[in-house]
Amino acid sequence: MTKIGLEIHSQLTELQSKLFCSCKANYREFQPNENICPICMGLPGSLPQLNQKAVEKATMIAMALNCSTPEKITFFRKNYFYPDLPKNFQITQLNIYGETSVGGPGILMVGDKKIRITRIQLEEDPGRIIYEGSSEKNQITLVDYNRAGTPLVEIVTEPDFENPKEVREFLNILSDLLANLGVSDPSLEGAMRADANVSIEDGNKVEIKNIGSFHDLEKAVHFEITRQQSLHARNIPIIQETRHWDDKRKITVSSRSKEEDLDYRYFLESDIPWVRIGNQIKDKLKSEMPETISSKKERYVSKYNIPAQVADVLSSDKFYSDLFEKSHTTENAKEVANIITTDLMGLVDTREKRESSKLTALHLKEIADSIQSGKITRNSAKNVLYEILKTGKAVSTVISDLDLDNVFSESELLKIIESVISEETQAVEQAKTNPQTINYLVGKVMQKTKGKADPTYTLDLLKKKIN
Ligand SMILES: [Zn+2]
Repeated sequence: MTKIGLEIHSQLTELQSKLFCSCKANYREFQPNENICPICMGLPGSLPQLNQKAVEKATMIAMALNCSTPEKITFFRKNYFYPDLPKNFQITQLNIYGETSVGGPGILMVGDKKIRITRIQLEEDPGRIIYEGSSEKNQITLVDYNRAGTPLVEIVTEPDFENPKEVREFLNILSDLLANLGVSDPSLEGAMRADANVSIEDGNKVEIKNIGSFHDLEKAVHFEITRQQSLHARNIPIIQETRHWDDKRKITVSSRSKEEDLDYRYFLESDIPWVRIGNQIKDKLKSEMPETISSKKERYVSKYNIPAQVADVLSSDKFYSDLFEKSHTTENAKEVANIITTDLMGLVDTREKRESSKLTALHLKEIADSIQSGKITRNSAKNVLYEILKTGKAVSTVISDLDLDNVFSESELLKIIESVISEETQAVEQAKTNPQTINYLVGKVMQKTKGKADPTYTLDLLKKKIN
């Protein structure tokens, strides 16, 4: 049987400052080595100051993943020498004196499958090493410490996954959950990374490190299972080792370093006292936690009669569900949900497009209202949306600019239908025996009306005229 376990690193991207100093958590907007100070550089005499908000957000994650949350937490030094680590140790958490990390055992459901969470720990991210050129030929290695010390939450699972598909589903659910909690934006480059351990047939466990994206994680796990099965089939023993994911060649490669926990010489971080997280704080955090994705979904279905599948898509994406919350009324909720899931998601499908979009909640509300009042058709709503995303103009301006605001009266529409029928005699004959052809005629009417006619209504009228 294949067993896969994960270690997911998620940056707390929504925080203002780093984990132990006041440098910015958002290191992405800086030139290399601009976002640093004596604390995150580990200069002699500097002392870490724990970011309270980071502890709170990490505890929130633990609660959302149904983990136990201990009364007292503490930090450890993990010692290793690597150029991305200016202090020569990383401040992290460990459960050697009982449960002292922010989260103990928990559970996340993936469909009907229970995935056990082993623990959740809060730690600092190292800096970034940038290699110029290919790894064999490169002469230059650059180090950027802007990221060093940014708050990172490590989520460790039990080896409960049996195939790469389950891994992928879990990661999708987890990243939606973290985004919904408002603690992390998984769409930011490098905000979520993962290591995986893979074993087959109760054999040795192989750890895969250095996987930069969830997409690659699925590929790496898949590759590793195939590699191990191939060795197993030829009776070659599978060595317990750490392998690195080579994202250029899309294979896992044995790595020379073989650090065990003992090599890290963990010891208590004596510059940071034990932190007590009492029930009062936990109750406060619970009350601050946003509505869960599943409860949102239920509400959308029961209160607004939105189809379950649409509610599912809408509730799991924080960006779109926030937009929905701001733009809908009880009357137009179903229409707003429809516009978001059928049109908007296709038009704004990348982070860049979201950021450059000029669409506001008011725009969306007015588009939905215009469809409901019959001012524009659902078909032309997409054109309105497209124009607003680019220009941010008022809905009424766009509707009149695009000449979309005179929906045809029945008699006007009938006239156009009659002209189509007289022009398309062959298709009309076919339509009598082949119902598919009638869609062609609807298309012709839409062409003549520049998409302003309501297609469902047109179809009804056409059917009456032909038969
Ligand atoms: Zn700093």
